[in-house]
Amino acid sequence: MPRADVAVVGVGLAGLTSAIALAEGGARVHVVATGFATTHWAAGGFDAGVVRGAATPQAAVDRLARKIGHPYRLVAAALPAALEWVRGILAEEGLTIVGGLSDPLRAIPTALGSTRIAAVLPDGMAAALAPWEPGETLVVCGPAGFRDFWPHAIVASLRRPGSWRGQPMPGRVEPVTVDLPGLAGRHNLSGLDIARAFDDPVWRDQALDTMARAVERLAGGDGRVALPAVLGLDDHAAVLEAARRRLPLLPFEVALAPPSVPGLRLYRALRAALLRRRGRLQIGEPVRGAVGEGHRVERLVGPAAAREFVLTVGAVVLATGGIAGGGIVGLDDGSLRETVLGLPVDAPLGDPWLLPDAFDPPGHPLETAGIRTDADLRPVAPRNVREPLAENVRIVGSLLAGQRYLRERCGDGVAIASALVASRSLGAHVAALAGPEHRLLASGSRAR
Ligand SMILES: Cc1cc2nc3c(=O)[nH]c(=O)nc-3n(C[C@H](O)[C@H](O)[C@H](O)COP(=O)(O)OP(=O)(O)OC[C@H]3O[C@@H](n4cnc5c(N)ncnc54)[C@H](O)[C@@H]3O)c2cc1C
Repeated sequence: MPRADVAVVGVGLAGLTSAIALAEGGARVHVVATGFATTHWAAGGFDAGVVRGAATPQAAVDRLARKIGHPYRLVAAALPAALEWVRGILAEEGLTIVGGLSDPLRAIPTALGSTRIAAVLPDGMAAALAPWEPGETLVVCGPAGFRDFWPHAIVASLRRPGSWRGQPMPGRVEPVTVDLPGLAGRHNLSGLDIARAFDDPVWRDQALDTMARAVERLAGGDGRVALPAVLGLDDHAAVLEAARRRLPLLPFEVALAPPSVPGLRLYRALRAALLRRRGRLQIGEPVRGAVGEGHRVERLVGPAAAREFVLTVGAVVLATGGIAGGGIVGLDDGSLRETVLGLPVDAPLGDPWLLPDAFDPPGHPLETAGIRTDADLRPVAPRNVREPLAENVRIVGSLLAGQRYLRERCGDGVAIASALVASRSLGAHVAALAGPEHRLLASGSRAR
């Protein structure tokens, strides 16, 4: 029967960063998840918050932290340290993250021809963050036959000032489609296929030469070139460096429909960081229940291929992502169930679950559904917040009640800040269980 000082349930941003922090402190960490997480959907950057009237992520976080019941009330103070710590971990794995919490939020082009607001992005998207000058040209360049990136459609939309959300736009926006070597006529060409092709240095050189010639014809003066986010998967840093060197305009990647290549790079870097710290990772097993005594969870259980999977644990971090991640499900009787421990779910009472307008601007009310916690992120009952329901359990990420991670764009910030808070508070707990050889994050002094 496998044992762990800490079991982390969920392999999203919250789960992986919790696991890395705990493993870094010396705990034997076992991560178990039903499947891949939001990392594979998202753009690979860090959204800490986007709120009307807030010019920087930090300003948005400060505003959200004043909202009653918002998880930032508990974890916002840890966010700056968490971001720098994660930035350091990713840099060790070869992935550079640019931008900070006090940098201006900018309108970044999307593959749909709209823009989204961001400040903290992977290096491949860095060139999109500088404000546009009126004399600049934006060339949108995509491979022929690639259905997730249509330069002409993107440009038609980006030429409209309204697409830029009141922020400066380029003086000229031009499309170009290029035939990349060996891709013409390929059916169902995915971003992942092209990213893998770019990992090959020979193909990369040919492709970049073709792109350079096409972009050169449109460039004329200062400008930047937007490319689909396919500049390599395993060898991204080298591909990006080559693209910057060979293309006549400064390139930046534009995130695509899932699976997201920048998201995969982020996931792979975090996974590598966890394995380097001797963490264990098991994907494909749902956790369906727990056995414990008093206010402590002692074993997690779930169905597995041949027989029941049982993991003996000293503590548990629940990072199951709430409704979107599968950590909370709706039942036929209209109630909500937390899928691992059966914790009480805090959801807005009386709100209609099925809104007449799927794009209602305030967002879906159920987005705020989640688990309430105390300041240490131990689960509590919504009506009795003083007594933790489980002493050795911590709740992190989108499972925390009270946030609208889609509307407030705070999901990534909440994920990494709560991971740091949970690992610090569990640090003391697990060290007591495991003995003096464990040098965990109890004091928080390891945060870089
Ligand atoms: C479509 C989508 C778009 C989003 N866009 C944004 C955005 O633009 N900006 C933003 O800030 N946030 C966004 N979010 C929120 C996003 O979830 C968070 O930003 C962040 O990635 C934290 O996720 P997480 O780690 O808490 O959970 P997730 O990434 O959802 O991971 C949950 C994990 O738990 C596992 N799991 C669930 N139940 C069980 C179980 N019973 N047993 C074992 N494993 C289980 C899942 O398999 C998965 O591995 C988006 C979410 C979704 C779904």
